[in-house]
Amino acid sequence: VALVDDDVDLGIDVRDRIYVNGRWQPSAGAGQIDVYGAATGRVIGRIPAGTAADADLAVAAAREAFDGWSARSAADRVGLLSALAAGLDQRASDLARLITTEVGTPIKLSEMLQVAPPIRNMAGLAAVVESQPFSERVGESLVLREPVGVAAVITAWNYPLQQVLGKIGSALATGCTVVVKPSEIAPLSAFAVADLVDEVGFPPGVFNLVTGTGPEVGERLVAHPDVDMVTFTGSTSTGRRIGEIAARTVKRTALELGGKSANVILDDADLEQAIKVGIANCFTNAGQTCTALTRMLVPVGLLPEVEDLVRARLERYRVGDPLDRTTTLGPLASAAHRDRVRDHIRRGIAEGATLVSGGAEPPEGLPDGCAGGYFVRPTAFSRVRADAAIATEEIFGPVLSVIPYENEEEAVAIANSTIYGLAGAVWSNDPTRANRVARRLRTGAVDINGSFFNPLAPFGGYKQSGVGREMGTYGLHEFLELKAVQGHAG
Ligand code: NDP
Repeated sequence: VALVDDDVDLGIDVRDRIYVNGRWQPSAGAGQIDVYGAATGRVIGRIPAGTAADADLAVAAAREAFDGWSARSAADRVGLLSALAAGLDQRASDLARLITTEVGTPIKLSEMLQVAPPIRNMAGLAAVVESQPFSERVGESLVLREPVGVAAVITAWNYPLQQVLGKIGSALATGCTVVVKPSEIAPLSAFAVADLVDEVGFPPGVFNLVTGTGPEVGERLVAHPDVDMVTFTGSTSTGRRIGEIAARTVKRTALELGGKSANVILDDADLEQAIKVGIANCFTNAGQTCTALTRMLVPVGLLPEVEDLVRARLERYRVGDPLDRTTTLGPLASAAHRDRVRDHIRRGIAEGATLVSGGAEPPEGLPDGCAGGYFVRPTAFSRVRADAAIATEEIFGPVLSVIPYENEEEAVAIANSTIYGLAGAVWSNDPTRANRVARRLRTGAVDINGSFFNPLAPFGGYKQSGVGREMGTYGLHEFLELKAVQGHAG
């Protein structure tokens, strides 16, 4: 206990309980996991290293709560979610600071991207749920849409609040109950959500939070026979493992996985605008965004001009303390991840791509206190072969690959040549051409000439970018089973 008090005195956010069955209670294990500040490398928090026994307890609570929760009216459930959204909104600026400290997202972006949209989307769930026909007549049958049951919610660190709120919003609105296992790298905002769940007064067991590692707590949830569904965001390799384990108990899975999205710039595009928007997209959150447009496909004849424009844009980034409002590029979320991204950059150089800007060395001129942070220089390669490792593997850092193409046919072929299919973009001044290319991209989303994220549109991937869709009505459907009722009762 003394240690905890000392930690609190040092400003360390110590969480020594998990939230199960409506109560904050100790984990069955004694272990703890340190949480590090992305910009400093210093310990900023401590969470329980939960165990499989904790996962079992949480699943039992969620199972027990399911009948009552699913029997409530949707309006009732959504009312509690709206109260949760209102509570989170009141703490929005604290949440943004917390996520900036954990993940490294520049503070302005944290407010705009990490915190505001998921709260807004949760508040908007009432309208989405109201428009849902939870039952319909099909000939002689009454077709009912019913909640699938207990959902395990396993999330990553890049948009920690967004992922937790997006998944639990849809799950709880439909009448499912949840066990949340956030990433150990950025778990603190999930505790803030649990604090509010407790305050708002959700029935015990409807929402449970168990922290711990993926292999220990995550796998137990995925394998658990009383879990009906797993909703996961993270890497494709972990998604594969989850899919394999979930299949043993024939669970439903919704997987939001990696990407290597192509920004197809056609020869009649507004080049400057396409590059400006394309780079902003690729480098948002230091490239730690699954939909990042990390491959810029350009007509071979425009390469010199493109390289100049790309270099000029990268030189504008202000790399530094993410809590400083003038910083536009923060650190990566963890030391291991920084090392991985730097290895990718070294590999790009070894593969013979042209380094337009950046490199594997640490950035210079970082402010005092940031020396131990996980910074990587904004980096762009050009003349990258479409089958090079840096052009096909998800790097998940501030790294762009410019890939030349000869004609539209080849551009489409390159865009579709990776195992991923999450997002994409097309730039052209000819709407017919832009639409033609957009339709040929094998991806879950395509932006034409830049656009805004639509939270009511389906979000998810083709190919190995995932299974299922989130957001809006599509997100709700992931958590619903179909039942056909025929004949006459009595
Ligand atoms: P992971 O996919 O491994 O982690 C995501 C979540 O899954 C975490 O909560 C993790 O737990 C959990 N997990 C890990 N292994 C298992 C398992 N066997 N069973 C159940 N749950 C598990 O991502 P990493 O954090 O390791 O990042 C590695 C790479 O993944 C990145 O470099 C990036 O390329 C990619 N990535 C992609 C994302 C995307 O949105 N496309 C998001 C995040 C990462 P734990 O707390 O132990 O980490």
